[in-house]
Amino acid sequence: MATTKEYSVEEKLKALIKVQKIESKLDQIQILKGELPMEVKDLEDEIEGLNARKNRIEEEINGIQEFIESRKEAIKDAQALEKKYEKQSENVKNNREFEAINKELEMQGLEIKLAEKHIKDATEELIEKSEILEKAKKQIGIKEKNLEHKKGELDKIIVETEKEETVLRKQVNVARESVEERLLFGFDRIRKSYRNGLSVVPIERESCGGCYNTIPPQRQSEIKQHKKIIVCENCGRILVDNDLADSVDI
Ligand SMILES: [Zn+2]
Repeated sequence: MATTKEYSVEEKLKALIKVQKIESKLDQIQILKGELPMEVKDLEDEIEGLNARKNRIEEEINGIQEFIESRKEAIKDAQALEKKYEKQSENVKNNREFEAINKELEMQGLEIKLAEKHIKDATEELIEKSEILEKAKKQIGIKEKNLEHKKGELDKIIVETEKEETVLRKQVNVARESVEERLLFGFDRIRKSYRNGLSVVPIERESCGGCYNTIPPQRQSEIKQHKKIIVCENCGRILVDNDLADSVDI
């Protein structure tokens, strides 16, 4: 601050209020920026999860299709054996041989029936899995559309806030120059120690606007007089009256 000019307490308070208002706006931008990329990230994670699920179902479908193919091969093999045994049965020499061949034929017949049953069951499963796959693909499509929309929104907001942020940063630097170093040091220290970033607060319903500790009437009127800088006994924030706070525009 300029050394040539002495500032009144009221001017000092106004300067602090201004810095606080701009800093609070910058805080809001940070919060906004902090949440939007997270939303996009969540959607990306969700889509990644859905894609993994889709791949798993596709693998399962491939497995079922391979199984069906192997059962079809088994039927072919059994049918070939059946043909072989049928041919052999034409040249049987005795009853024992005939029975043995018949048993083999029966076995191959059962083998074929079993493979057919397997194919039927697997085909049903295949239909079921295909339906699940379609649903998963649809879901991915919806989420991807949503992501695209959110990303667009985010990009837009980032561009918008970047402009606003640049303006506010310049404003806050100018505003800080008109506050005494000692006051600024205390201001920054308190701002950093509270999550809401409030260092200068108005009186709200007879209480400190930062910690809601009740302010006695005598102290309230002292605050309104702007004769000295008064801090909250409970939280250390600088207290200002509403009229003064409202009189400062940024
Ligand atoms: Zn307080």
